[in-house]
Amino acid sequence: MARPILLAVDDDLNVLEAVVQDLRRHYGSAYRIMRAASGQAALDTMAQLKTRQEPVALLLSDQRMPGMTGVDFLERARELYPEARRVLLTAYADTEAAIRAINTARIHYYLNKPWDPPEEKLYPVLTDLLEDWKAGYQPPFEGLRVIGHRWSLNDHKVRTFLSRNHVPYRWLDIAASGDALQLLKERQLDPDSLPVVLFTDGSALVDPEPEVLALRVGLSTQATQEFYDMVVVGAGPAGLAAAVYGASEGLRTLVIEPEAPGGQAGSTSKIENYLGFPAGISGADLGRRAHIQAARLGAEFLTQRATGLRIDGQYRFVQLADGREVSSHVVLLAPGVQYRMLEIPGAERLAGRGIYYGAALVEAVACKDEEVFVVGGANSAGQAALHFAKFASKVTMLVRGPGLAATMSKYLIDEIERTSNIVLEPKTRVLEAFGEERLESLLLNGPVGDYRVPTSSVFVFIGAAPGTAWLPSAILRDEKGFLLAGPDLKSNGKLPEGWQEQREPFLLESSVPGVFVAGDVRHGSVKRVASAVGEGSIAVQFAHQYLAGF
Ligand SMILES: Cc1cc2nc3c(=O)[nH]c(=O)nc-3n(C[C@H](O)[C@H](O)[C@H](O)COP(=O)(O)OP(=O)(O)OC[C@H]3O[C@@H](n4cnc5c(N)ncnc54)[C@H](O)[C@@H]3O)c2cc1C
Repeated sequence: MARPILLAVDDDLNVLEAVVQDLRRHYGSAYRIMRAASGQAALDTMAQLKTRQEPVALLLSDQRMPGMTGVDFLERARELYPEARRVLLTAYADTEAAIRAINTARIHYYLNKPWDPPEEKLYPVLTDLLEDWKAGYQPPFEGLRVIGHRWSLNDHKVRTFLSRNHVPYRWLDIAASGDALQLLKERQLDPDSLPVVLFTDGSALVDPEPEVLALRVGLSTQATQEFYDMVVVGAGPAGLAAAVYGASEGLRTLVIEPEAPGGQAGSTSKIENYLGFPAGISGADLGRRAHIQAARLGAEFLTQRATGLRIDGQYRFVQLADGREVSSHVVLLAPGVQYRMLEIPGAERLAGRGIYYGAALVEAVACKDEEVFVVGGANSAGQAALHFAKFASKVTMLVRGPGLAATMSKYLIDEIERTSNIVLEPKTRVLEAFGEERLESLLLNGPVGDYRVPTSSVFVFIGAAPGTAWLPSAILRDEKGFLLAGPDLKSNGKLPEGWQEQREPFLLESSVPGVFVAGDVRHGSVKRVASAVGEGSIAVQFAHQYLAGF
């Protein structure tokens, strides 16, 4: 594969040379370093690179250049290489323009000149950006292939699993690809039993369960030890934060997660309000970074679903979907919430066949130039609408209330208003979904009465419920299934009858000592990434206090 390119742009040739030298010294072995002395020259170079299908990973441009400013160049460069990371080099006096450019030109970062020493001021920033670029970059294809139907729930699940675990694959739609039939025929596989995952060594899996697929793509499904200090259920922001703090503070930590690290946030195209990411960060990137961080600090991850919890004296046993158990002194429950389903005729039959819950980012490309619907008026629906608007010809948001102001953050409302192919239908509900093999139309009710709209995809964000039914009754919960912890365990000032300890429950401790609760699944929690991260981190402090009592 050709080395990806880092392109430096500056009209001051001395500065340009200095930038190029610094880039070459640190990145020269993995990347090709190129230069241009003006915005226009850089655009010409990029156009040629595009024709030759060469990858451009990063653009580093000075702001003050005659003819075309750095911001103008980076904005135009987006059309040629939308995925390349865009960094502006500015004098201190131009800082305000640079901050504005985060919104207008969607630059990823700005750096003030001078950037000496580069080890402190340049390389950490660029390395971080290049890691993000690499995570989304699909090199010329040499790997795994998935053959399936676009309108099949299991096909959708396999693709979502692979993409959320950052396993590169190429998807072949059996209805649209002649190659797909040929590949199945060569391997004597039945085109009626899909999806099929083809591996480079010629082997195949037919309609695999996530655990089987996980094992085959190199993810871990079996614990390496019999006993851990802390087992974390769920690798969303809460579980990942607990894993980072637990592992870094010396606790033998095991994280159980059936999907992919990142949780709900992992399906979010852009989180704009999480501290420390001025240009926003995709949920997948946040999940990937936190996963790497926790693993580097020593946390172990299993691709498994927790199906039960057994208490035996000081020991807590988490039961897994494959029938195994793992044991520990402390368990942190952070399984978050699951999307609420549409309760209308047709919804169950067409789930995964045009009706999707959550952002279903893997479907975005398949919706290219189609009209799609988003149901819901909260931030998650707004983010999804903005994401799909990049692919679909039109996105219609169906909102029960009179508008978005009461349910959505202002920055999202502003961006939706600026996006010409998003249309808002207030006071509108979905009554029924129609289609045989796949979704074909929806019956809606709005201010004009009932009406039917043709569509092949609808993405639903109508709230969520906690998936806590698998937990034993000793773990107390509220009437909606959210888990009670700490002071919320008290009713009329009294602790639950089963509480045998001589102390009050720790903050975030459930009704079973040593079993803690963090994130969206907790009764009364704030449904935000930052608060889930905060709770996961704090829970570890209480885990230490609990363990100190042994
Ligand atoms: C589309 C969308 C957009 C959002 N945008 C924002 C935003 O911009 N800013 C913001 O602050 N918040 C946002 N949120 C909210 C935020 O994502 C959540 O508050 C946060 O992810 C909660 O973290 P958590 O760790 O508690 O749970 P989750 O993120 O839900 O993670 C729970 C994890 O547990 C796993 N799990 C579930 N059951 C089991 C089991 N039995 N065994 C093992 N693992 C299990 C799940 O697979 C999941 O990965 C958004 C939410 C959505 C849905």
